[in-house]
Amino acid sequence: MSYQLELKAGIEAVRAAANVCRAVQANLITADTLEKKDKSPVTVADFAAQAIVCAHLLKALPNDLMVGEEDSAELRADEEASLRASVVQHVAEQVGSEADEAQVLAWIDHGSADGSQPRYWTLDPIDGTKGFLRGEQYAVALGLIENGEVVLGVLGCPNLKVGDHQGALFTATKDGGATMYRLFDETDQGQAIQVAQVTSASQARFCESVESGHSNQSESAKIAELLGITGEPYRIDSQCKYAAVARNDASIYLRLPTSETYREKIWDHAAGKLIVEAAGGTVTDMHGKPLDFSLGRHLDNNKGVVATCGAIHDEVINAIQQVRG
Ligand code: AMP
Ligand code: MG
Repeated sequence: MSYQLELKAGIEAVRAAANVCRAVQANLITADTLEKKDKSPVTVADFAAQAIVCAHLLKALPNDLMVGEEDSAELRADEEASLRASVVQHVAEQVGSEADEAQVLAWIDHGSADGSQPRYWTLDPIDGTKGFLRGEQYAVALGLIENGEVVLGVLGCPNLKVGDHQGALFTATKDGGATMYRLFDETDQGQAIQVAQVTSASQARFCESVESGHSNQSESAKIAELLGITGEPYRIDSQCKYAAVARNDASIYLRLPTSETYREKIWDHAAGKLIVEAAGGTVTDMHGKPLDFSLGRHLDNNKGVVATCGAIHDEVINAIQQVRG
């Protein structure tokens, strides 16, 4: 099996980052922060999670590059001293006393590669920040890209359940299958997952963003109607949508553009796309084109995203073309 060193390092990194996210969500999100719509808890967790993932990967694979969503510029400002202290404290709780301020900032900035090299990791330290702040779903999403192809994906979903265990971890490697683990149980051996065996879209359940600003929900409702889908959409934040398709909680994930100019980011899709494909599904943009990860930080050659269990993919793409004209 290829990519075993990378897989082990990626799993450890995502588990450690998920620990810090869970701690921040439990300790820093209060009635007060919710009422004030205070985003500082997610800011702390975002930076801390990126520092932790980079620290782990640097130890295991010191020559590998990282394209992360965050950089430390904002955090270095004089007026952000207390935010910075909180980030350093949360990182130190996971990785120990070597995590002083300079080291944490350097770890965060390890994520500043631009995606122009043949091999690099990409990280969304907290995908679904709005879900995180609502106390709902979010994900730590880590992918490895080689020559424009996603070859490994690790997705930590701290609030998604596996049986009665809260926290799910999904992994996939190129040429390997998709596996689901209990996120906060390192002894778990995992189980193979597979997409739904649905052959007509009318039998499908579809999922989409909770945020109507991130995906065109009125258009997806028309597409669902055309496909004969009668159930309500499963609305869930973050790449948990890809996980939902991979493990057959849903058979379709629709992400339809809300603006002409928005460009999808590679870290919002790399891990999830590979996990769906490894579970037997299909992922393309809304025109049915493969997602092109060879262009740096954005999916500049693609519009929207459609993930399905596979057999119904063309049917879904055709319905999208019909509704969008
Ligand atoms: P979701 O949880 O699926 O709603 O997606 C969260 C992700 O949406 C974030 O990581 C953002 O990068 C991304 N995002 C932000 N604005 C937009 C937009 N206008 N269209 C699509 N995605 C967006
Ligand atoms: Mg994101």
